[in-house]
Amino acid sequence: MPKLTTKRTGMEEVTCSFCGGTGKDPFGIMSWMSTCCVCGGKGVVLVRTPNTRCAHCNGTGAIKTLTCTVCMGTGLVPLPSEPTTMCPECHGSGDDESVSSMACLKCRGRGFVIKS
Ligand SMILES: [Zn+2]
Ligand SMILES: [Zn+2]
Ligand SMILES: [Zn+2]
Repeated sequence: MPKLTTKRTGMEEVTCSFCGGTGKDPFGIMSWMSTCCVCGGKGVVLVRTPNTRCAHCNGTGAIKTLTCTVCMGTGLVPLPSEPTTMCPECHGSGDDESVSSMACLKCRGRGFVIKS
């Protein structure tokens, strides 16, 4: 399937990272037949472009069995137009220093901050 890109709106359709494109809840919290809460069962999600892999969940869209709150389960975060630099707090991991399942407060889990 060709990748759909719409330059005009700055959105692109990508395979849902959370379910890997199956459209089913990968962790079967409710039931193995449940629909993926991120893509609503479509297997694809619309993300803003340009984007980069979510540092907090490593692009998987999931933190343990929960949807990553940084990328909302898409595995991608929008890149700001301003120049960015690696977050000095989490050194790019996007994780909180003490609780790795929490997003870094300084970069909001993205692993980068706007260069000032
Ligand atoms: Zn999905
Ligand atoms: Zn994420
Ligand atoms: Zn950080």
